[in-house]
Amino acid sequence: MSVAAPLRSHGPEAPRVAVVGAGLLGLTAAYRLAQAGMGVTVYERDSQLGGLAGTTPLDGIPIDRFYHVTLPTDERVLELAAELGLGDRFRFRRSGVGFYHQGRLASMSTPAELLRFPGLGPVDRMRLVAFVARCQVGDDYSRLEETPIEDWLVRICGRRTWEVLWRPLLDSKFDGRYQDLPATYLWARSRRMSRSRDKSSQEMMGSLDGGYQTLVDALGAAIEGLGGTILRNTPVKAIVSSAGRAVGTLSTRGYETHDQVISTLLPVATAPLLGRDLASAVGPDRNRYLGIVCLVMRLRRSLSPWYTLNITDRRVPLTGVIETTHVVDPERVGGTLVYAPKYVNPDSAELELTSEELKEAYMGHVRTMFPGFSPQDDVLASQVARARVAEPVHTLGGEGRVPDMFPAPGLAMASSAHVYPEIVNGQAAIGVAEKLVDGLLPRLQDVSTELPLATRRAS
Ligand SMILES: Cc1cc2nc3c(=O)[nH]c(=O)nc-3n(C[C@H](O)[C@H](O)[C@H](O)COP(=O)(O)OP(=O)(O)OC[C@H]3O[C@@H](n4cnc5c(N)ncnc54)[C@H](O)[C@@H]3O)c2cc1C
Repeated sequence: MSVAAPLRSHGPEAPRVAVVGAGLLGLTAAYRLAQAGMGVTVYERDSQLGGLAGTTPLDGIPIDRFYHVTLPTDERVLELAAELGLGDRFRFRRSGVGFYHQGRLASMSTPAELLRFPGLGPVDRMRLVAFVARCQVGDDYSRLEETPIEDWLVRICGRRTWEVLWRPLLDSKFDGRYQDLPATYLWARSRRMSRSRDKSSQEMMGSLDGGYQTLVDALGAAIEGLGGTILRNTPVKAIVSSAGRAVGTLSTRGYETHDQVISTLLPVATAPLLGRDLASAVGPDRNRYLGIVCLVMRLRRSLSPWYTLNITDRRVPLTGVIETTHVVDPERVGGTLVYAPKYVNPDSAELELTSEELKEAYMGHVRTMFPGFSPQDDVLASQVARARVAEPVHTLGGEGRVPDMFPAPGLAMASSAHVYPEIVNGQAAIGVAEKLVDGLLPRLQDVSTELPLATRRAS
């Protein structure tokens, strides 16, 4: 994005902007606003920055809490990292894809391998190739928005491919609730993955040395370098309003006034922070959400040759098995890292299980697929991460469900719920942050002339 010339120099007269949440989205927005001369304060509930994209120590060595990679086509991530002096710290590799299908493992890393997918006839295979090619053509998704994903896939790929491939994949990604998804989801996903293929038609994936944590920490330092403030361990308890206008934040530090409050939390997490006037301006939350439960293990040995193992054999109730050290340097994370995630509905009983119960169950699932895997002998360290609400699910008519970014004076909302029709990821989060700032700067120009300076100084 182009950063506008500063509205004012940093200082007591700069418009004061609160950013709630120091994930990738909030920090990118805060950085751009600080560059534009705003007086930025970022509130973060946790002791570290990064949210879902951050690291966690596993036996003292930092690893991604949830597995993260960057694709070569994630140009916003790469450009932002380069701007912060991290451009030479990415490493890209070819990454393989496997499938666990009808009790067997098979490589599906190239289109030629995918064409040998078991259980499909020659016509199904031709239709599958045509489907992937079709997703690459044109940018107009308006007709897909109202098309149920099953109808679309059955029409293009045939009933057998739906039953053998697509249905179990969607079942594993959406915890059984895929019936209300629009065709847009798989269209966008297929485009993202196809574009990351290299000349040999294999997917390329990369990782930043130190993970996304390196990027968010660099953003944090840059914000502070521009005069902004980052408050860790400071959850916002309420976004305070007066006569329908957001005027400040109530956090563990008490009440602080701001000319603008930006919530980068998902609408479901922002709603409890709003009083009645702001809540009615925001309107009802029309999204549903997915949570995640994710086992990570540091292993003595590699389990498979693939970064991603998709699971179409639904006797194994995991979303996949991700061996990140096919992309991330094993030396950096203390050895081979394997994640066993399961996306779950937010009311799933699995979110209530203890870590020990989850470890036992998920390691058992891994053992079903890899009978030689021994939790006792192979696992050096393990832990379970979970998030009750990890990402929004845009259902049929998704575009109409994207929330308003500027629902009330003084209040902006920008989160993964604004990512559509793209798939939720770091690239998309940065895009939302930059769109937010582009829309906000002219409004702040108005604020800086509209509000009496005393309002700001009163704080
Ligand atoms: C399993 C998994 C795998 C993924 N893999 C990839 C990948 O490979 N590549 C990729 O690009 N993306 C990936 N993503 C997506 C990526 O993590 C997200 O798109 C991105 O991190 C979203 O950032 P965010 O700032 O919108 O939200 P979050 O990261 O959720 O940030 C929100 C922040 O707000 C804070 N917060 C919450 N409540 C409050 C409060 N009341 N007051 C103050 N602070 C608060 C939270 O602590 C958090 O830091 C993955 C996500 C998951 C779940």
